[in-house]
Amino acid sequence: MNLFINQRLIKKTFKSGIGNYEFLQLPDIKRNKFYVVIDPGHGGADPGAIGIGGLRESDVVLDVSKRVKKLLSVKGVKVRLTRNNEVDLDLPPRVSIANRTDADIFVSIHANASRGKRRDINGLETFYYTGWRGRLLAKKIQKQILKVSPGSPDRGVRQGRFYVIKNTRMPAVLVEIGFLTGRLDARRLEKSIHRKRIAYAITNGILEYLSRTE
Ligand SMILES: [Zn+2]
Repeated sequence: MNLFINQRLIKKTFKSGIGNYEFLQLPDIKRNKFYVVIDPGHGGADPGAIGIGGLRESDVVLDVSKRVKKLLSVKGVKVRLTRNNEVDLDLPPRVSIANRTDADIFVSIHANASRGKRRDINGLETFYYTGWRGRLLAKKIQKQILKVSPGSPDRGVRQGRFYVIKNTRMPAVLVEIGFLTGRLDARRLEKSIHRKRIAYAITNGILEYLSRTE
């Protein structure tokens, strides 16, 4: 029964694009054991970065976050998004959602803008605040998002003091999925096929991390 439902959900998730083949390579983990909070950055009156052609960070990261939620759900992971639509949510409630509900991990999803909107600046980076667990989660996600973004520079796994990763009590990372102001990254991020691949990559990194903590 479960298998049947999963396959239908898989088909629904990948009507087009990368297809079941890649999906089936996502690692299996113990079902109904883990609970993840995904935080799509910005929202509502706060669009975040504005990129080439008016591409808005809040829209891009919400789309990616919803896809991550779907994929993780198929794998038996409970997921909560800090926002489901275009609302302007302050940083403290994002943190308290995760702390209050005792999430296993917290993943905040953002896209970058360069100073002066330089089109030659592209790349991906993942931040953690402290601790080996946060660092490991960041490494797993960074490795996967690079795989689906060939040619975009690896800006690395870095320590950052962002509010949402500093104040959450579980392993927490903030992932920057590319520069909306960069020629290469923006051209990709405006396409849903690439956003699917990024979501798949983030999911893969999360599952790899969780499988290590089983
Ligand atoms: Zn942002």
